[in-house]
Amino acid sequence: MAALRGEFGVAGAVRPAVGSGSRRTPSRCLRGHTLAVGGATAGWSHAYGLPTVTCEVCYARPEARDSKATWCLLDPTVQYSAGKAPDLGLVLVTLPPAQRRAGVGRIELRWDRKPVGAVWLAICAPCRRALLTGLRVEPDRRRLGYGTVLVAAALALAAPPDYRWSTTALPDSPEVLAFWATVGGFPGLGSPEPCSDMRVPE
Ligand SMILES: [Zn+2]
Ligand SMILES: [Zn+2]
Repeated sequence: MAALRGEFGVAGAVRPAVGSGSRRTPSRCLRGHTLAVGGATAGWSHAYGLPTVTCEVCYARPEARDSKATWCLLDPTVQYSAGKAPDLGLVLVTLPPAQRRAGVGRIELRWDRKPVGAVWLAICAPCRRALLTGLRVEPDRRRLGYGTVLVAAALALAAPPDYRWSTTALPDSPEVLAFWATVGGFPGLGSPEPCSDMRVPE
């Protein structure tokens, strides 16, 4: 994969991980190696301002020492309001619906202030319903895990099973299907179940 350069560094892979310290250390690498057996090294990405994990097994194999040996951990429960988001690094910013309850708002993923992806969603607290209405990652930032982070961020805002989630109908696209298959599915995928408070654009 070609290296992508932002204002301050190279874009690497990122995955959601809740919490801090050893609690959020993943059990497997991006290729499925068990880190407790193969070993892992903790580090820091200055480009993203996030902690990193490197799989020792992947790193020891020169042919495998690509963007998948090391990845960053982003806590999907840490979301900033637009006015309080840090200027640097990879951060989640919540932009609530402007007008009405249960309207469509979004969570943006921003890298050094620049939006690189977003998930659109409607949440109705009284009905305990949540609807994912859109997901987009900038074309030159795909296959890094940004979409996975955005999906985790959406679920963190309205956690199932407390909230009943669904999504709008999926576009007829192999790329979209491949994304959701990689993420491991989503509750109510492609079968929208909005509450009566939601007015969702077609
Ligand atoms: Zn590995
Ligand atoms: Zn409702």
